[in-house]
Amino acid sequence: MRILVIEDEPSLREGLEDLFGSAGYRIESVADGLSGVRRGVDEAVDLIVLDLMLPDLDGIEVCRRIREVRPRVPILMLTARGAQEDKVRGLRSGADDYVTKPFGIDELLARVESLARRSMPRGDDLEPVLLDECTFDFGRSVAQRNDAAIALTAREVSILRWLYLHRERAVSRAELLEHVWGSSGDMQTRTVDMTIANLRQKIERNPKEPAVVVTVKGIGYAWGNR
Ligand code: CA
Repeated sequence: MRILVIEDEPSLREGLEDLFGSAGYRIESVADGLSGVRRGVDEAVDLIVLDLMLPDLDGIEVCRRIREVRPRVPILMLTARGAQEDKVRGLRSGADDYVTKPFGIDELLARVESLARRSMPRGDDLEPVLLDECTFDFGRSVAQRNDAAIALTAREVSILRWLYLHRERAVSRAELLEHVWGSSGDMQTRTVDMTIANLRQKIERNPKEPAVVVTVKGIGYAWGNR
């Protein structure tokens, strides 16, 4: 889970970096609105903590611009005490929640954890999906082709679910490592390729010409029928 903090006040920014860092999140921070938009639209960012009062673009505008590109990324806004109007404007611009300054660190962490939980793509509530005559039931973690059940490992289900939930685009190996394995950097992208090669043996009609987990040259993998 990578959190982006957009906050111009250096002491608060550093405080938030320490707080989220010690809570086990990966963290990056920027000090102005334009940098915030630039980083916030990046898929690598999983959650955004956004100060309302910024020197260039204000938080409302930053939120609006990020939302145009990423309708679902969780955004927590930091607002000034008592400014009811700011909270309303913040929520209207697309923020999911807000915390009023000055805030207690426990409250802030609790709000972030709750937003993170809500946004986690789990897929338990998905209807079974049919692709290339293979049925995938993400909730029950099973697949079926020609009335024959296919046993999938938890990791294989996670890969399929991630690709399906992001089926409008290709997914990189690094992204799969991060979100399926929960790892980055120290693991090899070859691990992904080997796992997917095994998965294809199980689910594809012809593993040499995959129709479910397709290779996207130069990027990684994608759900078959985008
Ligand atoms: Ca500020």
